[in-house]
Amino acid sequence: MNQSNIAKFGGTSLADFAAMQRCADVVLSDPNTRLVVVSASSGVTNLLVALSHGTLSEVDRLQALDDIAQIQQRIVEHLALSNEVLERVRHLLVQMNDTSLAIANGPSAALTDKLLSFGERLSSTLFSQVLIARGAQSVCFDVRDVLKTDGQHGKAIPQVDDIAPLVEERLQPLLNDNIVVTQGFIGSNSQGETTTLGRGGSDYSAALLGEAINAAQINIWTDVTGIFTTDPRITNQAYALEEISFNEAAEMATFGAKVLHPSTLIPAMRKNIPVFVGSSRDPQAGGTIVRNETESKPVYRAIALRREQTLLTVTSMDMLHAPGFLARVFTILAKYNLSVDLVTTSEISVALTLDNTGSNSSGQHQLSDELLAELREVCQVTIENGLALVALIGNGIDSSYGVGTRLFSTLEDVNVRMICQGASSHNLCFLVDEEVAASVVSRLHSSMFENNREGVA
Ligand code: ADP
Ligand code: ASP
Ligand code: MG
Repeated sequence: MNQSNIAKFGGTSLADFAAMQRCADVVLSDPNTRLVVVSASSGVTNLLVALSHGTLSEVDRLQALDDIAQIQQRIVEHLALSNEVLERVRHLLVQMNDTSLAIANGPSAALTDKLLSFGERLSSTLFSQVLIARGAQSVCFDVRDVLKTDGQHGKAIPQVDDIAPLVEERLQPLLNDNIVVTQGFIGSNSQGETTTLGRGGSDYSAALLGEAINAAQINIWTDVTGIFTTDPRITNQAYALEEISFNEAAEMATFGAKVLHPSTLIPAMRKNIPVFVGSSRDPQAGGTIVRNETESKPVYRAIALRREQTLLTVTSMDMLHAPGFLARVFTILAKYNLSVDLVTTSEISVALTLDNTGSNSSGQHQLSDELLAELREVCQVTIENGLALVALIGNGIDSSYGVGTRLFSTLEDVNVRMICQGASSHNLCFLVDEEVAASVVSRLHSSMFENNREGVA
């Protein structure tokens, strides 16, 4: 078989029957699309996350379950499903109810992942039926049979070496005769328990499966016509990019551009598989191609914004000329599995940012009391919340003249809380108060991209 394409559809693309029909149009218009990865229908994962905390009143718990069932029902009523398929859907809903009840009696990370999986399991079952109703040969495949992860519930790490042979053995043969629909976001650990890759993880699943089947292209179909110069919800001046490099797009995703899960590009880069981002609502509008080499290499390609940042400042007189202090701080952070992204240091203090948007599936807070107690044994700790990280993304940012001048002259009335530049030629990042963040991005966008759709300095 020729190399095939993967199509991934996000929640809004699968929100209801009409949206699913548009996705079916996209799939059926490309004979090379053999594998389809789906998210849960819009709103379902949020409801499941609310249920997963086990804190809803009984009335609210039943209401949330009913809301999810209604979303499925409104799709089912457009399909003439066999009794067997109807029974499969009903069974999923019953298992979902049972899991939420078990959580109400005692939540756990394993039960949370199990509960969250029902969103994707339901949408994949129904979308496969939508394709069948359109005359296609399609099967729904349980991705947990191949997408092996470690045991970290809520933010599981895929085990790439285990995934490849399982995909070869269990998934690849199905692709010859079927359009296979499978779930994004979920996987299973070595004991067969359900795990999840973190919020927004379906993009990452699509890329991992693309890597495993050696796809020609990974197509991410979402609700925007590509990767924009900045989140189009922040400014209507933002416009879709025709192309962007893997490195630039990976930085954008890492620094908050929700359009791609931060890890999506890692598997694509390993196998050099181009990633396309386009709108399932408007596929004719084209989209953005992400690949290794781009024709243009503008200094300013895009601006990303990541809200809910925590700035942790650790201070110790012992740090003055003392070796090993930073190592101790980072060892403690690593022990609690915290990933640090920006770091600045002065003589006796280190400031670092932690991403609070917590790609952890259940959105749990990262700074535990145990961690803080351990840090306080070696230094003073100050925590500032309510910050947002703005990242300028482009090429040769570290070696271009005038970047700082343009930044500071545009933002002369803004308190820039921390700034990081130099570690990567692709970004310059800084922190500002969350309240002014959108206006900061908007103003920078005007300064860097208006009258200059190439974004050249
Ligand atoms: P899906 O459910 O399809 O995965 P998401 O909501 O996760 O979709 O991602 C799409 C959203 O990402 C867009 O609606 C947009 O608001 C947001 N977004 C943030 N930054 C960007 C950007 N630079 N370009 C395009 N979209 C962006
Ligand atoms: N359904 C999951 C979420 O809402 C995964 C995804 O949409 O990518 O986070
Ligand atoms: Mg997403």
